[in-house]
Amino acid sequence: MRMLESMAHLWEPLGWQPDPRQLETFAALQEQLQQWNSRLNLTRLVQGDDYWIGQVFDSLWPWVPLLNGPQRSSPLALIDVGTGGGFPGLALAIALPEAQLTLVDSVGRKLEAVEAMAQALGLGERVRVRRERAERTGHDPACRGRFDGAMARAVASAPVVAEYLVPLLKPEGQAVFYRGQWSGADQEDLERALQPLRARLETVERRELPAGRGLRHALVVRPSAPCPKTYPRPVGLPGKAPLGQLS
Ligand code: SAM
Repeated sequence: MRMLESMAHLWEPLGWQPDPRQLETFAALQEQLQQWNSRLNLTRLVQGDDYWIGQVFDSLWPWVPLLNGPQRSSPLALIDVGTGGGFPGLALAIALPEAQLTLVDSVGRKLEAVEAMAQALGLGERVRVRRERAERTGHDPACRGRFDGAMARAVASAPVVAEYLVPLLKPEGQAVFYRGQWSGADQEDLERALQPLRARLETVERRELPAGRGLRHALVVRPSAPCPKTYPRPVGLPGKAPLGQLS
């Protein structure tokens, strides 16, 4: 517990602080990850700052305005596409105690671990998993146009991620793309890909992670009109022929 209390160095720069119960749940998630990692290769970021900065801080920082915002009348519906070992989705499930999280990945054994971890942490009622390709999620009426927030970290290039996430958003929803490096050329590629999806890039936030852990960018994308029904295209096509590619 002393270790947990001495973590002001983490929360001060984040601009949000977990309550004691959330802090314990983050610590319990770290234990769960370590246990599952001895059986499955879920993620390499499970020890010390690798976990607290590389997973927890890195997952939460783009959402700090929401974490500090007023309580909502209805629970937020959030979706994490390509969740892998459960990030950023599980970190948000802990930080936003009212939110409903849908975690999508095409690899079943990772999702079994993520589901078991969510159950062990008492998050089972608010976290559900879907083992499928994101190209299919975007056409399921239970998911299409249903989410206040959609996110993807380390899944594919930004134009590919755009095709996965935009169809999932409510008209007033927002997608957060987690990126490491981000250049003017990357931005042009993304803006071209957003045109057929009828969405726009709203902001690009830039952030140094604490303890010299590197530069991160978070892109916020919003729909500007309903996304045409042809998107996402069939499985594999968004990756093979990303939208907006110059021929
Ligand atoms: N988001 C996690 C993180 O940041 O630690 C995991 C990143 S991992 C490098 C990428 C994950 O995306 C893999 O688990 C992979 O199975 C999943 N993925 C990639 N393309 C996908 C798709 N089209 N549909 C569903 N999952 C996908």
